[in-house]
Amino acid sequence: MNGDIPGKYPTTDFLQLVLDSTREIFVVIDKSLNIVIFNKEAENAAVHFLGKPFVKGESILNYATPERQEKLKIMYAEILQGTQKKYKFNFPGGKIYTLNFQPIFDSGTVNYISLTCVDITTEEEALLQTLKNQELLQRAESIAGLGSWEWDISSEKVVWSDELFRIMGLVPGEAEPSKHLGFSFVHPADVTKAEDILLHSFKTGDPYSTEIRIISKDNQHKYIHCQGIILRNEAGRNVKLIGTFLDITNKKLLEDSIQKKEQRFQSLVEKSADMMMQVSEQRIITYASPAIKAMTQYNSEEVIGIRLGTFIHPDDLERLLPEFEKIFKDPGVPRVLEYRIIKKDGSGIWVEGTITNLLHIPGVNSIVLNQRDISQRKETESLLNQLNETLEFRARELSSSNIELERFAYVASHDLQEPLRMVSSFLTLLESRYAAQLDEKAKQYISFAVDGAERMKRLINDLLEYSRTGNTRGAQEKLNMNDLVNTVSLVFKNALEETKGLLEVDPLPMIVAKKTQMIQLFQNLVGNALKYKSDAPPHIRIRAAEKNTKWVFSVEDNGLGIPEKFSEDIFNIFHRLHGKNEYEGTGIGLAICKKIVEAHGGKIWVKAAEKQGSIFYFSIKKQQ
Ligand code: ADP
Repeated sequence: MNGDIPGKYPTTDFLQLVLDSTREIFVVIDKSLNIVIFNKEAENAAVHFLGKPFVKGESILNYATPERQEKLKIMYAEILQGTQKKYKFNFPGGKIYTLNFQPIFDSGTVNYISLTCVDITTEEEALLQTLKNQELLQRAESIAGLGSWEWDISSEKVVWSDELFRIMGLVPGEAEPSKHLGFSFVHPADVTKAEDILLHSFKTGDPYSTEIRIISKDNQHKYIHCQGIILRNEAGRNVKLIGTFLDITNKKLLEDSIQKKEQRFQSLVEKSADMMMQVSEQRIITYASPAIKAMTQYNSEEVIGIRLGTFIHPDDLERLLPEFEKIFKDPGVPRVLEYRIIKKDGSGIWVEGTITNLLHIPGVNSIVLNQRDISQRKETESLLNQLNETLEFRARELSSSNIELERFAYVASHDLQEPLRMVSSFLTLLESRYAAQLDEKAKQYISFAVDGAERMKRLINDLLEYSRTGNTRGAQEKLNMNDLVNTVSLVFKNALEETKGLLEVDPLPMIVAKKTQMIQLFQNLVGNALKYKSDAPPHIRIRAAEKNTKWVFSVEDNGLGIPEKFSEDIFNIFHRLHGKNEYEGTGIGLAICKKIVEAHGGKIWVKAAEKQGSIFYFSIKKQQ
């Protein structure tokens, strides 16, 4: 065959004309791989890309490099077996071509191969752009949490976007999308709703927009905002349903929690016994909580639109005006004021109003008042004030009579000392000068009288001591109680040695008190513990415990103990449990202790039982 295609085919010239008119590159080669025919485009391309023009009758292999020729031979052999081949080439400069090798069958055998080459740059670019757009769309869907789907009604084919798979808890492409698959994720309680909506859209062609819940494959409950639209053909038949799924779970949860919070606050305001009010910048009431009824006899609706000042007692209004000015000037700063509100019946009640300027807060834009009925408190306060006044008056009276008493005790004991000294010295004189004239009885009487005078002297001295103690003014100092007790223990050194006694002292604090009185206090208590000892060697322990506002000291002994019924009496002046012959003493020691402790803002008490030892406790108020 030499250029002409025999039989029923048109002439070569005509064919050449047709081929030259196309923009495709067209070459036909025979089974010996020689070029039979080619068009103008092919000729241009050969010169341009292969470096030499096509020549009829020349082997197509001559246009390839020697290395490629072997491969091409194999390829052409396969085509001659009837296989079609298609290649895509990217040429420098961005041009893309497809190269088609098509076996030409003639009565079942392949004698020729057609080689067409088409410039597909534009189509490829368009495809690339589409892919890019799809990727962009997918990314946008994923960012927005928006999935989309399409349902082709006639073919029943359903397509889901990747994000829709993800919303359902699936990996994109994990399952074959279908209407059934979609519905399998819908919350059972929302299935009917979803079906009804779709059905309605089907019937009416209306778009839909609704919220449903789904349970994703990974068992998450999600809120979805669904929107969809029906596409109909010209005949009005439903063709396609396109829809979107927007995951609004987070938004929904946020809305729910905001709503719950709002409800909680509202019920707090509405149920509160306090009367809440909102007042505009012009001081007009814009809201009053239901508590207003119980507090003022007005209904909430009755007061809305009324000036706040109308409710405030005229006597308090003047005092409040400058306070209100401050509230206006200080947004956000709550001020607590006490004033009277006038009730519907004209009477007044005292309220404590916490007033805050929230004009700057969007959504509030008002002054907020929280008013609490404090009438009861005010009444109690005024009663308390009266009581306080009476108490102060009594205290003044008492203190002056106390001072007088102390002065009297001092003067009496001081003045008594002189005659007593005279009695004692004359009795001694009598005994020494007239000893010879006196019989035994007279001497015994004189000795009784001297004893009595001696005892009276001690009593008077103790009484003097007692009347002097109790005043802490001026001489308070910081005391290290460890050192102080140490000093006291030196006084009892001999007594302890004689009795084989033990004085145990735990670590003690620093306190502020009057030093001489503290020494006397411990001296009296330790002295008693040694004096009222049992048969066993005395064991005395001194401790201190810290409380909120005070220190509690204790002096414990293993002595005679004290019957419980006397545990208070022993602190009274002259109260003794033992006769003067049994134990020396005047019964003033513990009374002095009580006076000292009370002067330091504390109390003294004893925990003791007969024959079981005693623990004397006393507290001393902490001072800065
Ligand atoms: P006095 O020791 O001079 O009698 P106090 O006022 O010191 O006076 O004591 C009053 C009384 O309390 C004492 O007579 C004694 O009976 C009893 N008493 C005080 N301290 C103790 C003690 N540690 N153990 C037992 N009895 C005590």
